Amino acid sequence: AAKADGGGQFVFYTREMTERAMARLRLEASLRAAAERHDFELAYQPKINAASGRLTGFEALIRWRLDGALIPPMEFIPVAEDTGLIIEIGAWVLDEACRTATRWSLDHGPLPVAVNVSARQLADAGFADLVESTLRRNGTPAELLEIEITETVIMKNVLHHLPTLNRLRALGVRIAIDDFGTGYSSLAYLRQLPVDVLKIDRSFVNDLPHAPDIASTVIALAQRLMLSTVAEGVETIEQQRWLAEAGCDSLQGYLISRPVSADAAEAMVMGAFAREDMALTA
Ligand code: C2E
Ligand code: MG
Ligand code: MG
Ligand code: MG
Repeated sequence: AAKADGGGQFVFYTREMTERAMARLRLEASLRAAAERHDFELAYQPKINAASGRLTGFEALIRWRLDGALIPPMEFIPVAEDTGLIIEIGAWVLDEACRTATRWSLDHGPLPVAVNVSARQLADAGFADLVESTLRRNGTPAELLEIEITETVIMKNVLHHLPTLNRLRALGVRIAIDDFGTGYSSLAYLRQLPVDVLKIDRSFVNDLPHAPDIASTVIALAQRLMLSTVAEGVETIEQQRWLAEAGCDSLQGYLISRPVSADAAEAMVMGAFAREDMALTA
């Protein structure tokens, strides 16, 4: 179509495409340099027990600052996946999270930290070994580490991932299915997977309390399969109240806290952070 519209238009499209390709190449080069220097940070978002309001653990979320500006993970994680840099970056995330979880738990008692793992990492033949050696190097009890894998990634290739998941579980690492409800889980597989936690996707939490069907269904399913539930993206008191009453185990979201720096998270740990105002009053 561009050609039929005349040369000018064609040139315009070409230039735009070239610029996009150049921007992508620059991003890749910067990411490669950052990956070599481990020039990232982890932010930590607390989770609380829905009934008591007490701190139950954290999710580690990677942060990358490029020339002063934060680049959202949704922009650079896919690039890291495509280029394979995710293997190096993911190993750093795992190491940093284990080191931190160990330190906090010495002061506070067991506080698991959850780490997000992408498709390429999980498919890597050395992944379970990497987890094992990272735990050992940091003196981290396996119970302090939780691995979050999105439902789509797990279900796309269940049988292929099963041996790795089984090995992680045998180590004592907990496995959470992230963004649950957005993919198409086979219930038959779900029952056989070595999974401990279902994280109710933010979009369904966002529907609460007026459209609770999916959240109710996920909580009922989890209870049936003896899995625990975490609601992600809890932003309002009404959502919190509904989830606590429905028997969801843990809550995570801006209402409780945004993801914060390691120092700020440590202050929560030391202060035994609890949103007591969020406890269900019996
Ligand atoms: P996710 O694992 O589902 O993480 C939850 C995302 O929701 C985070 O965005 C978090 O900041 C955001 N969030 C938490 N509470 C709320 C809320 O109440 N409202 C709203 N609107 N958002 C909330 P973030 O940090 O930008 O991360 C986005 C995604 O990037 C993550 O989704 C995860 O899939 C991926 N990611 C983050 N860190 C890592 C990492 O270290 N490795 C890998 N492989 N992926 C990561
Ligand atoms: Mg996650
Ligand atoms: Mg999630
Ligand atoms: Mg999500």
